[in-house]
Amino acid sequence: MRSKNTVKDAIAITDFTYYCYRCGGKNSLDVEIPKAPDYHHQEIACSSCGDSTRVILAGCPDCEKYVYWINDLNIPSLVNGFAKYMVHNMQAMIDRAAQQGARISIDTPEQYPINATCPCGARFAVELEMPDLD
Ligand SMILES: [Zn+2]
Ligand SMILES: [Zn+2]
Repeated sequence: MRSKNTVKDAIAITDFTYYCYRCGGKNSLDVEIPKAPDYHHQEIACSSCGDSTRVILAGCPDCEKYVYWINDLNIPSLVNGFAKYMVHNMQAMIDRAAQQGARISIDTPEQYPINATCPCGARFAVELEMPDLD
């Protein structure tokens, strides 16, 4: 497991503000945002219409700004689904190779990067953790 000691590098945000996709209502959150490649992920509900969505926030490693993604989709669970799909298909390939007497070893990535560009120009990636599929 990843330790939680990255919080010491967090950018404290007392009023992260976003506007609801559905109704345009203004919402504020109090969050601590760790620096990329760590990220903060949480489900949020619009204070005006109750529409729930999810946000991923990550601090720029080079400055005090941060980037965020808001989506109705649960990106980490999408990534998990994708990882399972990949592993399933690789397994089929490995099985076929085994029938032909070949050996394949595949390293499954432990992290899935999402690329971001900070307003300061820095480019970095947030690394979503892959599930342990062994
Ligand atoms: Zn709303
Ligand atoms: Zn930056």
